[in-house]
Amino acid sequence: MKNSIPTFDLDKNTLPRMRQKLLKWYDQNQRDLPWRTTTDPYHIWVSEVMLQQTQVDTVIPYYKRFLKRFPSLKTLADADLNDALKVWEGLGYYARARNLKKAAAAVLNDYQGQVPENEDSFRDLPGVGDYICAAVLSIAFYKPLAVVDGNVKRVLARLILIDKPVNNSKNHSTFSEAADLLLARRKPHLFNQAMMELGALICRPRNPDCKNCPFKQFCKAYLENRVEEFPKRIKTKKVPTYHISAGVVFKKDKILITRRKPEGFLGGLWEFPGGKVQKREKPEETCKREIREEVNLGIEIIEHLTTVKHAYTHFKIIMDVFVCDYVKGRIKLNGPDDFRWINLKQTKNYPFPKANLKVLPFLKNVIR
Ligand code: SF4
Repeated sequence: MKNSIPTFDLDKNTLPRMRQKLLKWYDQNQRDLPWRTTTDPYHIWVSEVMLQQTQVDTVIPYYKRFLKRFPSLKTLADADLNDALKVWEGLGYYARARNLKKAAAAVLNDYQGQVPENEDSFRDLPGVGDYICAAVLSIAFYKPLAVVDGNVKRVLARLILIDKPVNNSKNHSTFSEAADLLLARRKPHLFNQAMMELGALICRPRNPDCKNCPFKQFCKAYLENRVEEFPKRIKTKKVPTYHISAGVVFKKDKILITRRKPEGFLGGLWEFPGGKVQKREKPEETCKREIREEVNLGIEIIEHLTTVKHAYTHFKIIMDVFVCDYVKGRIKLNGPDDFRWINLKQTKNYPFPKANLKVLPFLKNVIR
């Protein structure tokens, strides 16, 4: 299996030199990041979960806040999901937070609170896939597992001219084999971080700094002057835009928020009720219909509050938001799994999706 990548024809003598060069470069150039000063497997785990699909600069303040609020695995396991999601609010991909909390509870129950070092045991925990498993076990416990993320794939694609698209999951095993071949087994914790750091700082998507790259004497793309050709990507479909209509329903000085079911997209977050505008439907009509369908309330629309635009990974939304007055009905939930009537100050206690967070400042000027 190890030699099934035809283009990876570096001999055994070359690999140690490549590893040495990379590790030396990392030693001299690594960024000073908060998770690099800890040996606590839980802290390392939190950082790696946050770093999946999110930039380092965005993660740093979240990482600090999260560990201030939940400094140990037990504090996270015992926490209310609402509180965990509130600290995660704005970071996106909320399934990561839900799974991390579930996994913390499982570690507490099944492993006396000690993060399991065993690959199969760790791999069985909620939210632990290839990346998290390799990253946490290599960095925390020095297990020889090669990490493969977007940065690593780009470095490998250029280094050994892998012409398979990096954004097609079918090709993951190719990159995984290459990373495994290259892995410095005695220092997997440093090697993995070095590869990711190299991708972030030197072998960047655009304008890679090949002149200062520790791999420049080995890199096929560089030596053949083909860096611009790699990595290959398949064209992805244009993301669709959905028109949404939502209502902030006032009942005296209270507003209605509903909670999304715990699983699925934005699961466990609170929002203003609403939904997709149907064909030939006016946003005002959608607002009334959705509120009737989701919470069984009759409302009156008072005014258009704002239009919010937000881009998620796979789609964009344009959301018209209306100020509404409660008119009639008792709440019966059909879709959401909980609701609250709260005043504006209490919004700070509930985790909202980003699109809803953009609405909150406009509510300060609404007088009902
Ligand atoms: S030489 Fe250039 S293309 Fe090759 S790994 Fe280094 S930065 Fe990337």
